[in-house]
Amino acid sequence: MVDSGRITRGHSGAANIYDNLLSAYRFLRDSSYTTGDTLYRVVAKWEPDYEHSTEIAMGYGQTVDTIYISGDTVGDYSWHDEWDDWSSLHEYGHHVMNRCAKPYPPYTPGEHFWYLEYPNPRDKGLAYAEGWANFFAAGVSDSIYQVNTIKGIGRTTANDTTYYHNVENPWDGSHFISSEFEGGPWCEGAVAGVLWDIYDSNNEYPYPYYPSGGFTDTTSDLMTQMYRQVWNVFDHYKPPDTTSCQTIFEFRSGWYYYAYLHGDTLNQITYHHYIADSVSAKPTGLFDSLIYIDVYLRWDNNDEADLDGYRIIRRGKIIFGVTDWSNWAFIGDNTDPNDTTFIDTTVLSMWYYQYKVTAYDTMGCESEPSDSVQVSIPQSCPVKSPMRVETPIISCISNLKLSVPEGSKEIAISIYDCCGRVVGNYNIRVKKEDNCKIKLHNVNDQLPSGVYFVHLETDKKQSIMGKIIIVR
Ligand SMILES: [Zn+2]
Repeated sequence: MVDSGRITRGHSGAANIYDNLLSAYRFLRDSSYTTGDTLYRVVAKWEPDYEHSTEIAMGYGQTVDTIYISGDTVGDYSWHDEWDDWSSLHEYGHHVMNRCAKPYPPYTPGEHFWYLEYPNPRDKGLAYAEGWANFFAAGVSDSIYQVNTIKGIGRTTANDTTYYHNVENPWDGSHFISSEFEGGPWCEGAVAGVLWDIYDSNNEYPYPYYPSGGFTDTTSDLMTQMYRQVWNVFDHYKPPDTTSCQTIFEFRSGWYYYAYLHGDTLNQITYHHYIADSVSAKPTGLFDSLIYIDVYLRWDNNDEADLDGYRIIRRGKIIFGVTDWSNWAFIGDNTDPNDTTFIDTTVLSMWYYQYKVTAYDTMGCESEPSDSVQVSIPQSCPVKSPMRVETPIISCISNLKLSVPEGSKEIAISIYDCCGRVVGNYNIRVKKEDNCKIKLHNVNDQLPSGVYFVHLETDKKQSIMGKIIIVR
């Protein structure tokens, strides 16, 4: 609906809200390649002259597919209204985040600001969630200006104050002066600007300097990526410790994870918005070896001071036949940055596997993946040494014999009675001469006859639960 088409009285704002939400739906359907008729459905609540705050209705972690649009009144929220396309598109952006990219990023109740870190410097706050919603509104409306301008049209309150900010040059807005713009990873305008510069086809040359920074970057803004790629990271990437991006750093990690390239340009874009945390170097020296039917990986230590761990990704393919490689998938991580080994106990005979490793830091910045290594798992292997309880019927706990995977250095053993109460907890060091079979010594021997459950966990986080019966 265009300006000249507006009906200037009554309930016609509903048609404009509908028009916006339909545009948002079509944008997703046509550019994200996701079929989401149900996923994208939303209820918009609006009433002329009634002052809802303009917001998505949800508590943290909830899904309530309702957005509210302020009617145009003279109250606190009167600068949003049914004719401000950006307002309804922005809330719809939150809706798709809540539906498709759970969990919703860190949430701090209260006001948020386009141009400031909120609420405190270095607080993750709402920057990514709000930055995403603003980017989304800009993408759907295909406009770098996000404008609240039509206040009063069609309503009794005539007040045409113009309020805008600019997603291309986020330090440009009506409600602050350029030097107040903080930028950085916890500032929603900067997050929106980065996402926009990845996506937009408007190539700025030279890429304008930040107004108050010391940047000397003149790299042109040439990313111009497909929305599909942005969406794929948004929708599918699983950063360390969570299942959706919570920060722009994690979004950048996802970009690397999917090998969408342009890494140097992406770095310039983030740097340009004061988002300057470095990315870990990609791990090197990865090699694999096959021990029984487990794949043993090791690589060289990264030396970043803020290193937080490593992640291992794998893809596979049957040795015979013409199948393609599966997609790269995350199979495990080392949360101890000093541990540069990983044992994959989940491989199948007659398969090829390829592995890569990434490093990530305490800020969630993940490196590009290492070079890959490949291993083929033969058909007949020597008998594998899976972790198991060798002697399920015993007379006392110290007779318990366990098989453990080679490479394990320590086993944590917990024994539960049939009611789930812990009746024993031991940590056993595995020595080389144990040859993958260990027997418990010097442990509590006083359990009465009965059924017990033994939980074993190696220092490689492999674990099983086994049943034992003590007969006296
Ligand atoms: Zn918002």
